[in-house]
Amino acid sequence: MSSATITLSNGVAMPAIGLGTWQSSPAEVTAAVKASVKAGYRLIDTASVYQNEEAIGTAIKELIEEGVVKREELFITTKAWTHELAPGKLEESLRSSLKKLQLENVDLYLAHMPTAFNNEMTAHIATPVEDIWRQLDAVYKSGLTKAVGVSNWNNDQIARVLALGLTPVHNSQVELHLYFPQHEHVNFCKSHNISVTSYATLGSPGRVNFTLPTGQKLDWAPAPSELEDANVLAAAKKYNKTPAQVLLRYALDRGLAIIPKSVHENRIIENFKVFDFKLTADEIAKLEEKKISQRLFLQDFMVGHPEDAFASERK
Ligand code: NAP
Repeated sequence: MSSATITLSNGVAMPAIGLGTWQSSPAEVTAAVKASVKAGYRLIDTASVYQNEEAIGTAIKELIEEGVVKREELFITTKAWTHELAPGKLEESLRSSLKKLQLENVDLYLAHMPTAFNNEMTAHIATPVEDIWRQLDAVYKSGLTKAVGVSNWNNDQIARVLALGLTPVHNSQVELHLYFPQHEHVNFCKSHNISVTSYATLGSPGRVNFTLPTGQKLDWAPAPSELEDANVLAAAKKYNKTPAQVLLRYALDRGLAIIPKSVHENRIIENFKVFDFKLTADEIAKLEEKKISQRLFLQDFMVGHPEDAFASERK
């Protein structure tokens, strides 16, 4: 099954589909990464805060040693968590991720949030996004990453760092799914030649099981299941595909990259089998007819931070 790539503004080719790994434990993620690469995936999406970079590094090393894939064929994305965005912290944070991943460089390094905090996340650090971007510019120029980008940033914040005239933003990774289509953000990014990666493309059905290291569960915004949407089910029937494959194709056909997460080999394979059908513009419009716009990931910890990306939505 052939795949697809998206060319970043610096010419780097990013696979349009990758494996998501949030909530994949180290024990689960090694097998998931191996199954995904064997199924044809070439992009793995992780983050220091997922605490699975070491296990992913082991899987990559073994896949290369087994001759399944070469390093240069893989595209590895990782992200700097909020304490790593504090002044002077980014380069050592990326070096720490690289050590765990057993890599000399990553393909894409993202500021996971626009907000810096102290290590314990108990206190804001009022670093402006411009200063975060100066640090990303520096690690890009040092060759530790082949591209740099942002996640959970709003359009104004991205515009502010573009205005610095440093390395442009190569990618914006945001929550984006049928019930949160983010047309304004996608149009903004297109106008600035920034690729967009959709996270939670399946509606993140497993998010409700997330527990903080303290054992505390988060409050999640209520949301109907997109996998059970009547129009999704109708399109799935028409193309003899699963609802998940329709939701993934919905994002791909809008020109976006996707990073569906699974730790089950059958679903990892299923989620990659999306290159033998296409949704038309009319079918996309039909899928979107409910006009639901419900953010699932409210990122409430940003409330009160001067760089809270969603402050205007919270009023
Ligand atoms: P998602 O990919 O929309 O959904 C993953 C959930 O769907 C898991 O519970 C998975 O369960 C299940 N699933 C996978 N394939 C399925 C299928 N074919 N049919 C039915 N259920 C299926 O949500 P996500 O994990 O929240 O987002 C994807 C990735 O984006 C993350 O893993 C992470 O890499 C990234 N992300 C980034 C941010 C950010 O702030 N930048 C935030 C959230 C996520 P099983 O594993 O049990 O199969």
